Amino acid sequence: MNLTTLNQSVIPYETPYKPRVLMSAKVYTDILTLVHNFQSEIGWQGYVRKQNQNTYVIEEILVYPQRVTGTTVEDDHEKFAAWIGQIPIDNLNRIRLYGHSHVNMSVYPSGTDLQQFETYKSQTDDFYIMMIVNKRNEFRIDIYDKTTDKHYVGCEYLISYDENKALLAEARRLVERKTFPRPTFPASFHQWEEPDDLELFESNPHSYTLAVDETAKAYKRAGYFFKKGLK
Ligand SMILES: [Zn+2]
Repeated sequence: MNLTTLNQSVIPYETPYKPRVLMSAKVYTDILTLVHNFQSEIGWQGYVRKQNQNTYVIEEILVYPQRVTGTTVEDDHEKFAAWIGQIPIDNLNRIRLYGHSHVNMSVYPSGTDLQQFETYKSQTDDFYIMMIVNKRNEFRIDIYDKTTDKHYVGCEYLISYDENKALLAEARRLVERKTFPRPTFPASFHQWEEPDDLELFESNPHSYTLAVDETAKAYKRAGYFFKKGLK
């Protein structure tokens, strides 16, 4: 790998319209389930769908045969070949994510990680995502877009989840609303908008409402999105 070449194609964090990743709460907890239940590194692959110019939806993650140590993951070639052989070709074409755990270490990619990502980048027709997670629930997500040949570093992620309808109904029944004069916010508070609205999951339109999506974004903006509560 030529590091200079790699660095030139890296887009700094502040670039507007940077792509991002969207995943369901199930995919998110699947990832943390692996990370928190292994004292070694562990790797996974994922089915990804490009939803629009800057949103990539991780639909499912897959564990594959591998040999792991505290600090490395490598394919078990024989078993891996058998495993990959039983995945239908249409599904193979949906694999656009390689993720792994850094256990308790920083999620900063190692030289080996970057080299491996270079290999995936060279093999893909459209895009590829690298994800590194640790036991502090920190995520490092890099997205490579082949159409523009850009490697986006440290992309943000959003999580969609189903509302608990029963809890909500109970809350609506029990929570009484007192009315006060409406507080006034600066005009900019209301006008602030994301450059490109997230669309709903097409595969299951009834599970995701715009309200949920707005809530998710509000949590994310507030900076405490899903960081607590899961260990
Ligand atoms: Zn690594």
